[in-house]
Amino acid sequence: MSEQISPQDRRAPEQGAAPGYAERYGTALLPVFGTPQKILARGEGVHVWDTEGTRYLDLLAGIAVNTLGHAHPALLSAMTKQMGTLGHISNFFASAPQIELAEKLLELAQAPAGSGVFFANSGTEANETAFKIARRTGRPRILALSSSFHGRTMGALALTSKEAYRAPFEPLPGGVEFLPAGDEQALAAALAPGDVAAVFAEPIQGEAGVRPLDPEYLRALRRLTREHGTLLILDEVQTGMGRTGHWFAHQAIDGLQPDVMTLAKGLGGGFPVGAVISFGTEVHDLLQPGQHGTTFGGNPLAAAAGLAVIGTLVEEDLLAHVRSAGARLRNDVLGLGHPLIEDVRGSGLLLGIALAAPVAKQAAAAALAAGFIVNAPDDSTLRLAPPLIITDQELATFTAALPGLLDAVATVSAPEGEN
Ligand SMILES: *Cc1c(COP(=O)(O)O)cnc(C)c1O
Repeated sequence: MSEQISPQDRRAPEQGAAPGYAERYGTALLPVFGTPQKILARGEGVHVWDTEGTRYLDLLAGIAVNTLGHAHPALLSAMTKQMGTLGHISNFFASAPQIELAEKLLELAQAPAGSGVFFANSGTEANETAFKIARRTGRPRILALSSSFHGRTMGALALTSKEAYRAPFEPLPGGVEFLPAGDEQALAAALAPGDVAAVFAEPIQGEAGVRPLDPEYLRALRRLTREHGTLLILDEVQTGMGRTGHWFAHQAIDGLQPDVMTLAKGLGGGFPVGAVISFGTEVHDLLQPGQHGTTFGGNPLAAAAGLAVIGTLVEEDLLAHVRSAGARLRNDVLGLGHPLIEDVRGSGLLLGIALAAPVAKQAAAAALAAGFIVNAPDDSTLRLAPPLIITDQELATFTAALPGLLDAVATVSAPEGEN
């Protein structure tokens, strides 16, 4: 996503795409994303098809978004029904689905009395909201972690560690400092003056290559932020909504509860929905009436999508499935004993296959050519974040193909310094 692509490359017709589309994409869209890998035409269940009619097993789910895969009947019917009843109303009004989804999220988050929800449309907007909540404490400093990713709008970008993402857009909102993730001493020292509004953290750093924070460090984060009256803001945009086999990744750790949690990606199952949950009475009134808002956030259609996703996860007992399927996939991949496979990080169905050489981008391309959609968040990690409905058998087709894919890239020597 971060590569620089020359205008010539961008405009070169993509092999395999329908005649004209790749070129038209390059002409009609801003060059922010580089050349699309394929032009996709439709999806059903865990598969998508490109405009050539080639089928792919979708092991990325639109980056941990398509919780129920593609065209799931429950999501389709709930959204169709809602759109035919009441789609959008503005936040001058409220709707039953919005209130029900907020209540449901509070219940799933085991949020205490006095907690509340704000709906947004994306992960970055959810984090902007959390940023504004943090500012309202009146404290000047905000901490984020090395390798963090919180989004691309200015506030969320200020919290994102990658220099290449931030530098072109400075000045960004100030007061943000980055701490080495996992370093408890650095955390304690940074919090000691008592002037830190909030610490932002992802339980598993997805964009950084699926790197979980050490549970001990997460516990220390909770303990130390509480000690110093600092908010712990967990960004569960990628890890939330069942992705790790828990409703929210932090629930894997007994007794750990943030002060604020942000959600998006999987919440709407493909429809853009973001949410911010504030826990307890102390955070509840930091944002006063009129201090924040959104036109679309939490509209009935978005809420219906969220309710359908949650309802289906419950009805089909998918969290238990995610835990078992994820554990099996991890074991099977490690069990391949392939020399290029060093480790499998992550949990549930958010896994990063750590490679022993910087060939992840080539391996992802080879996977695509073989009919599997995965991605390479960095040079040496393959990320898997399939729909949560995927079966063990479907996952096994990838495990079976993986050694061949890795052998193929291992024999093609990686270009020096390739990124
Ligand atoms: C994807 C992501 C975001 C940004 O979400 P958008 O919907 O793309 O704005 C923020 N935080 C995390 C952890 C993410 O994975």
